Amino acid sequence: MTRLLLLGGVGDALAIARRLGPPHIYSLAGLGKVPSDLTCQVRVGGFGGAAGLAAFIREQGIDLLLDVTHPYAAQISANAARAAEQTGIPCWALRRPGWQAGAGDDWREVADWAELSTALGLFQRPFFTLGREPLQHLDEIPAGQFWTVRMLDEHPGNVRARVIGDRGPFSLERERALFAAENFDVLISKNSGGSATEAKLQVARERGLPVLILARPTLPAVAREFSTGEALWQALQALPGGLG
Ligand code: NAP
Repeated sequence: MTRLLLLGGVGDALAIARRLGPPHIYSLAGLGKVPSDLTCQVRVGGFGGAAGLAAFIREQGIDLLLDVTHPYAAQISANAARAAEQTGIPCWALRRPGWQAGAGDDWREVADWAELSTALGLFQRPFFTLGREPLQHLDEIPAGQFWTVRMLDEHPGNVRARVIGDRGPFSLERERALFAAENFDVLISKNSGGSATEAKLQVARERGLPVLILARPTLPAVAREFSTGEALWQALQALPGGLG
């Protein structure tokens, strides 16, 4: 039997964790919800870098490491690749393809917050769907701009910003209603890929809005990479000796 350590943080990881039995461990950073109804073991919190992760792998007798973290969670993916190398076990990763701009899209890639902040100067009503990072900049919002920031948890805004705590998936109807009500003039997004948060891009296209896209980080090459959670699950089921 192959004992798995599944590094999660996205819906694809939870879908795999739901199908794993008691020998396997599902690990979460602890930022989002921690499910309490799983058959596999669940652990929460950092390992203390690649060395801590390698020590955990040895202690627990893990045979295969699965990196099913978010495409922008570059630190844990780097740690996973390094810890697998140090312990001599394979690391398999979900490397979800990014979204592609199509006809009617006006996407502008920005490398980091500094580039984003310059690009934002042209707009009055930006909609941020990047996670927590805008919170650090709420005091820098220029007069004449009003920000809407959507992230996982509630947070107080200020006179120039409203923070919406909400979790995907987001339907097209709901996104259309939000864009219409708030009259956004630009969308700011990661290029996360997947379907759960894709509707906002269609609504931006329908409304002729530009999208400022934060560039994807470079992730390490690992033993096997999969573009969907289902393909990864199929490969796990084909392991000799099974999953117990
Ligand atoms: P990160 O910068 O790559 O990771 C920061 C630190 O968090 C890691 O060094 C590690 O701490 C700990 N960590 C991350 N994932 C972990 C896991 N599955 N189990 C145990 N520890 C973990 O990642 P992040 O951007 O902060 O994201 C944190 C988590 O949220 C990830 O699991 C990711 O999949 C999820 N998430 C991130 C985003 C995003 O846009 N960044 C979006 C949705 C979900 P130690 O070094 O101490 O081990």
